[in-house]
Amino acid sequence: MKKSPAEILAGLRDHVDFLEEAGAGFIVAKAPSDASADAGRQPGPNTPKAPAPSVGPSPEPGAAAVSSHPTPDTRTPAEIESQVRACRLCRLHKLRTNAVPGEGDWSAGLMFIGEGPGRDEDLQGRPFVGRAGQLLRKIIAAMKFREDEVYITNVVKCRPPDNRVPCRDEVEACWPYLARQIELIHPKVIVTLGKTPTEYFVPGRAAMGDLRGKFGDYKGIPVMPTFHPSYLIRNEGNKGIRRMVWDDMQKVMALLGKK
Ligand code: URA
Ligand code: SF4
Repeated sequence: MKKSPAEILAGLRDHVDFLEEAGAGFIVAKAPSDASADAGRQPGPNTPKAPAPSVGPSPEPGAAAVSSHPTPDTRTPAEIESQVRACRLCRLHKLRTNAVPGEGDWSAGLMFIGEGPGRDEDLQGRPFVGRAGQLLRKIIAAMKFREDEVYITNVVKCRPPDNRVPCRDEVEACWPYLARQIELIHPKVIVTLGKTPTEYFVPGRAAMGDLRGKFGDYKGIPVMPTFHPSYLIRNEGNKGIRRMVWDDMQKVMALLGKK
């Protein structure tokens, strides 16, 4: 994808802003996590309320399908990738250019889970390569990880039309891929980006502002919900939100022994 000068500039600004914030995160006193009026805001203005997970405490959309299977899931990383790329299990396959299985280290200690591919991701077949993705990759760098040391994926592997929130049945159809990815990678920490992935990992209807910054649990793996990078972009200039994300990532770094 050829980028316009404006897009390149915007990307650079994100980079500088985030690193400034990251640097500040090391030296300034932490802002109290409940201090911001934005803390309770939803990640997107038009995000339809998805139904609360029907089972807790670690709702797993694919649980029924998987547990009715007598045989354990033995699929390899390569099999998961090729199955995703050819998958037609839900309606999202019809409009995709490329399915986006995910990328990174299959033995990563840290896994990021987003909502679903956007336009750039659909065109390239790679997760988080658009503007939000560039910001996520800056955050990863600020956490002192290389991109190839983490694993990045989404709760659905095909782009929902017009970037709408994926429907619950789509997430459920896709879930066994994600479940197997998590099982194979067995990360030390999962970071869920924004409301959509978070509500499948952390039960209840709480707002992101309440969920972020506190570890949940998925099959014994700590799950840290934080704001989606596109929410940071939409609220450019709101340093409080950046600081909250950075605070959340510092907790993740501490758990991984990075300081
Ligand atoms: N937003 C997401 O949630 N996932 C991507 O892969 C890109 C943007
Ligand atoms: Fe298959 Fe998931 Fe794509 Fe749906 S979103 S077609 S379940 S890979």
